[in-house]
Amino acid sequence: MAERMLKFTTVARKTPEKRAAEARNGDFHEIYADFIDAKATEQSSRCSQCGVPFCQTHCPLQNNIPDWLRMTAEGRIQEAYELSQATNSMPEVCGRICPQDRLCEGNCVIEKSGHGTVTIGSVERYLSDKAWEMGWVKPLVAGPATGQSVGIIGAGPAGLSAAELLRERGHEVVVYDRHDRAGGLLIYGIPGFKLEKDVVERRTSRLADGGVEFRMNFEVGRDATLEDLRGKHNAVLIAVGVYAARDLIAPGAGSQGVVPALDYLTASNRTGLGDVVPEYENGTLNASGKDVVVVGGGDTAMDCVRTAIRQGATSVTCLYRRDKANMPGSLREVANAEEEGVTFEWLAAPRALSGDADAVTGVRAIRMRLGAPDASGRQSPEEIDGGDFDRPAQLVVKALGFEPENLQEAWSAPDLKTTRWGTVKADVRNQMTNLDGVFAAGDIVRGASLVVWAIKDGRDAADAMHRYLKSKVGAPALIAAE
Ligand code: FAD
Ligand code: SF4
Ligand code: SF4
Repeated sequence: MAERMLKFTTVARKTPEKRAAEARNGDFHEIYADFIDAKATEQSSRCSQCGVPFCQTHCPLQNNIPDWLRMTAEGRIQEAYELSQATNSMPEVCGRICPQDRLCEGNCVIEKSGHGTVTIGSVERYLSDKAWEMGWVKPLVAGPATGQSVGIIGAGPAGLSAAELLRERGHEVVVYDRHDRAGGLLIYGIPGFKLEKDVVERRTSRLADGGVEFRMNFEVGRDATLEDLRGKHNAVLIAVGVYAARDLIAPGAGSQGVVPALDYLTASNRTGLGDVVPEYENGTLNASGKDVVVVGGGDTAMDCVRTAIRQGATSVTCLYRRDKANMPGSLREVANAEEEGVTFEWLAAPRALSGDADAVTGVRAIRMRLGAPDASGRQSPEEIDGGDFDRPAQLVVKALGFEPENLQEAWSAPDLKTTRWGTVKADVRNQMTNLDGVFAAGDIVRGASLVVWAIKDGRDAADAMHRYLKSKVGAPALIAAE
């Protein structure tokens, strides 16, 4: 083993080629190329095969990273893929969009010793993409039929990860989603330059081919109540994410041209998928030829600024009330946005929007400084007197984060217990809510989080639901009917 591994002192860290900003600004394709075989092998050989692998302990899925890196370095690519997919329902998605700098790679021992992390995410993506290309990704085969039925509300990464494992165990699985396409934020939130849509669609097709039933354009709360679904299925999983957007409170924020981030991103993603979106066509949700200001500092804000650049905005400015070091979004994405021509105004917040009800024309912003830490220990931003400045804007995108919708009210489910933040309360040991046979996973339990955590929760919920269903064998079977 030794001669193939531990090469971090002689082999420099290399990520896959990144397209030049001028080239990538003209389209919505991913910006990183695939690793060629030789590079994946070479980069994997940099791993020092730690006895206590901090990369693995900081991966939410506890992926067996050192072993699949060793197999890759040894050219055992199919085995490496098998191992990587054993703990991850969507390795090629995580390889692309996990904030590795905060998770596996940020905790790699050789990164800490100054040699540059092993490029774990790129190798993970390479293994799965290779597997799809080579036909190593096996069809989903349902286990012997149990006669029990599961309803999953939400076709995002949490719901899809649970659906796969429950179907493998022989349950009837019906996934309900209010959108017309499966994937949740993977399909309509996250732009193609981070995650191309065919990568998501081949995963959902595999589930449909394996007998998972998708009922799209089905909104719980409108087309059924939670009780209706409990009556149809032996167990139900709530995996609906968080979609109540925090609003911008400032004079003029109600003007035409001030739009919510997810409406803006969804219009762009739908257009990329070939849909005709009137609000995009008529310019309401299109940055072409406009000065754009995006308010916020998370992943959503980064996706909006970079989308605006690609739509041909005249200028794109991001206002964030804290500094760069304290922003919630990935620093890798900030660097990408800076390369692509986005201007960042750190420590700045909107004070008012100019224009009239029919059209926003600009943003008056105030400079901030970081004051004393609040109860959580985070420094609170404070306004600096006299620090106002103006930015022209014909499009202002509000990317201030998301909260849960009020499910108790929308779903006529007053008994469903939620936290004071509105997230669904689920037992950490078995993901079950206070309602018998109703489980919950993903953002609706954690609050806005990450894809990798949604996958982890979905997998854990599937295990818990399967145990629950086994304990109910002998109870009358329910098969979902129209
Ligand atoms: P979701 O993906 O939100 O899926 C929930 C599904 O439930 C949706 O399809 C929705 O239509 C459906 N639904 C909701 N209500 C109902 C209802 N009443 N009836 C039927 N269906 C319903 N994370 C990362 O790790 N990396 C990133 O780069 C990243 N970028 C992001 C960019 C943006 C713009 C956003 C908004 C988020 C980003 N995230 C990122 C976070 C990540 O997308 C989420 O944490 C993850 O998708 C949560 O998965 P989920 O399955 O819990 O919910
Ligand atoms: Fe790293 Fe995410 Fe892959 Fe885990 S799932 S190894 S955190 S890229
Ligand atoms: Fe390899 Fe880094 Fe993980 Fe250690 S921490 S096993 S060097 S990838």
